[in-house]
Amino acid sequence: AAPPLTVALGDRFARALPEMAVAWQAAEVPRPQLLVLDEELAADLGLDPDALRSPAGVGLLTGTAVPDGARPVAQAYAGHQFGYYNPRLGDGRALLLGELVDREGRLRDLHLKGSGRTPFSRGGDGLAAVGPMLREYVVGRAMHALGIPTTRALAVVATGRPVRRETLLPGAVLARVASSHLRVGSFQYARATGDDDLLRRLADEAIARHWAGAGDGGAADAENRYLSLFSAVVAAQASLVARWMLVGFVHGVMNTDNVTISGETIDYGPCAFMEGYDANAWYSSVDEGGRYRYGNQPLVAEWDLARLAEAMLPLLADDQEQAIALAVEALHGFRPAYDAAWSAGWRAKLGLPADVDDAVATPLVDDLLDLLQAHRVDLTGFARRLSAAARGDAEPARGLVLDLAGIDAWLARWRALGPDADAMDRVNPVYVPRNHLVEEALAAATAGDTGPVERLVEVVSRPFEERPGLERYAEPGPEGPYVTFCGT
Ligand code: AMP
Ligand code: MG
Ligand code: MG
Repeated sequence: AAPPLTVALGDRFARALPEMAVAWQAAEVPRPQLLVLDEELAADLGLDPDALRSPAGVGLLTGTAVPDGARPVAQAYAGHQFGYYNPRLGDGRALLLGELVDREGRLRDLHLKGSGRTPFSRGGDGLAAVGPMLREYVVGRAMHALGIPTTRALAVVATGRPVRRETLLPGAVLARVASSHLRVGSFQYARATGDDDLLRRLADEAIARHWAGAGDGGAADAENRYLSLFSAVVAAQASLVARWMLVGFVHGVMNTDNVTISGETIDYGPCAFMEGYDANAWYSSVDEGGRYRYGNQPLVAEWDLARLAEAMLPLLADDQEQAIALAVEALHGFRPAYDAAWSAGWRAKLGLPADVDDAVATPLVDDLLDLLQAHRVDLTGFARRLSAAARGDAEPARGLVLDLAGIDAWLARWRALGPDADAMDRVNPVYVPRNHLVEEALAAATAGDTGPVERLVEVVSRPFEERPGLERYAEPGPEGPYVTFCGT
């Protein structure tokens, strides 16, 4: 028999911010079938994987049987979608089940996606399909293994209820864990109510959840705690987006409702890992102008943070002019923070010794990116093969670049600096979720076989460790435009 499921879920968000929480229940699930479960994450949360597989566990993972005392809510938020403001978005197909304390004592949201209609559903059906929920599971696993802050999918349960999209698809509920689901759009919502007390409670909740600690930019004790909070979010997002850029991750929907206050990546919809390096690359069929293209991501993050600044103005100073001046100054922290994270990240990718001057490193990186861009070189494959070049075998990396004279000249400049190959192998992944393999795995799962998803997850969960027999997972897809459709 399965061990009993013991889990305590708090209702902290609902109590602190009742104006932004609508008590709600998940839809019934006709024929639940657990498709995937992140056992390591379950263990981190202090949840027994076997208990999660039991009927009680699957009830929790679908929200159909919540523990006593839990009070699931749909969260209200607003947001700019593709530049246009929508005052009322909110959890239209999601629920916050509650908060739990993980094994390290950290508070974590347990949240569902695809759990049925809510008062925020507008025209939507409140549902999610197996494929997109498994994409979140696969890509989130990869991001976590790459060391990039992210929400984490705990499980995907097929519901047995078909979902109507362009065709009928099998439905699913995703259970995910986050350090919170507070977003820029949460602040926009609170600000739009005109209730400064609500806005202040929201900011206090953000500080308590994310920046309570002293020392690490702790906002709690700062002279202007809300300005400190804003600066901390600016720094966290600058660092996050730099991390994305260094692995070629294109989020695809950087709307303000998809930008977290914690600095975790959230909402893996039409996302992709860039293969042939191209600052102009974008993949989402709904992003018509390429607003969220690879090379735009830092600018867009800064734009999103400007929306956060606007929302927070009443908290920053009593005088509006002074509040604006403080916000602008803090927002100006974004570019230097981003640039520093990007430069440090590239120095690490190239294995440069610490004493190499920026005056040497910066043009070295820029010239490499020009070469990668000109020849659409696979970023992941090239960066990883460079460590062989540092060890004396340049052929694998060289073979990826058409301009041999150009790459040879660059390699000579770089090798003269004494790059550290072992250090490079610790930061340049062998395996990222290759788009064509993700599609292949999701298609198989949609047809009833989760084997390819399990294998892909196993590979991308150990991204830095090259293993024999997995060559296929290290290669870019066949040529041709890759398009992701809005991940619903
Ligand atoms: P997303 O693009 O997933 O970040 O979602 C943006 C907004 O659309 C959020 O308010 C979602 O809750 C809502 N939404 C997306 N898909 C659905 C759906 N199938 N039913 C209801 N609401 C949805
Ligand atoms: Mg979203
Ligand atoms: Mg969503």
